[in-house]
Amino acid sequence: MFGKRVNVRVLKTNWKELNLLIVNSSWTLNLMKKSNSTKICLGIEATADDFGVGLLDFEGNVLANVNNAFIPETGGIHPREAARHHAKVAGRVITEAFQAAKIDPCDVTVIAFSQGPGLGPCLRTGATAARALASYLNVPLVGVNHCVAHIEIGKLATGVKDPVTLYVSGGNTIVSAFDAGRYRIFGETLDIAVGNCLDVFAREAGLRPRDGVPLGAAVENLATKGETFVHLPYSVKGMDLSFSGLLTAGVRLLKKGKYRLEDLCFSLQEVAFSMLTEVTERALAHTEKTELLLTGGVGANKRLQMMLKIIADEHDVSYCVVPKQYALDNGAMIAWTGILAHEHGTSIPIEKSFVRLKWRLEDVDAPWVKV
Ligand code: AMP
Ligand code: MG
Repeated sequence: MFGKRVNVRVLKTNWKELNLLIVNSSWTLNLMKKSNSTKICLGIEATADDFGVGLLDFEGNVLANVNNAFIPETGGIHPREAARHHAKVAGRVITEAFQAAKIDPCDVTVIAFSQGPGLGPCLRTGATAARALASYLNVPLVGVNHCVAHIEIGKLATGVKDPVTLYVSGGNTIVSAFDAGRYRIFGETLDIAVGNCLDVFAREAGLRPRDGVPLGAAVENLATKGETFVHLPYSVKGMDLSFSGLLTAGVRLLKKGKYRLEDLCFSLQEVAFSMLTEVTERALAHTEKTELLLTGGVGANKRLQMMLKIIADEHDVSYCVVPKQYALDNGAMIAWTGILAHEHGTSIPIEKSFVRLKWRLEDVDAPWVKV
């Protein structure tokens, strides 16, 4: 049934489910005719809790951006449970994306997937889907660095060209800027990501992600009702940050039951976001870039947006925040970065498309960036 033979050893994770996905999907018979000449990339995001599929044309128009998030019954994300979720919903999400874009699978020119960094089982499931599709449709496969993708979608969506970027999410906290062919890291977390800090605190407080409202947003809502600042540890080490002590102290005060949850949420945000703002401001001063970009899921937070606006104004730089639909992990950002990489000659043979759990932002050549 496949256009060419694939290395089954590479595909062993969840292969059965994904094979079924392709056999069962209604669009499998529709491979005969290409409906138009527009070049299109399908991007698959599956680094952690989200399984997302984006379809973009090579001009950067988003034709579809469909996401299905894994929400655990209790506790945090268990990588294997999340991967099982991804394998279960993959067929549906891919089909929905094609329907939303009103295109056929045969219209796809390139398949891109999040190759890393991320959780092994989740990455492997997304990669398996991508390899299967690339093989089936007989199109090139491009492995995309998830952190680069957050920056590139921010640039596409806001029009900034050469920013200092604060990328804040559930798994990453990075201050970066482009220099000499790569996105360089100027500061990063030494332990947990800021989103993880907010999420764990929220869970300890008994909050649950409800109606698609992420835990970080639940903390944000409560923080708006905070009145009293409670002292919590502020931990910036040079250009790097540490959030684990802040989380431990916050949870300890929470368990004491002496403070209003609203005040603790307010204080947690104030301290965490001040730390981020301090490091970002130093990166701006050092690089002398004239643009500042806020991206990643935590970038949806209004208080963080406001704090960064203050430093942007003080340094007289233009300031952009990634729109909400592209702030959280999404397939569109993978598709767009896949297009940029593919247009600069990057693709990866299926048998070499192993996932890279710890693939660092600064290890990725970005020949498409011209500054
Ligand atoms: P990502 O890893 O990019 O998908 O982003 C997910 C992270 O963003 C999680 O830690 C969420 O709790 C966090 N998040 C989403 N919305 C908000 C918000 N409004 N304020 C703070 N954190 C948020
Ligand atoms: Mg996510």
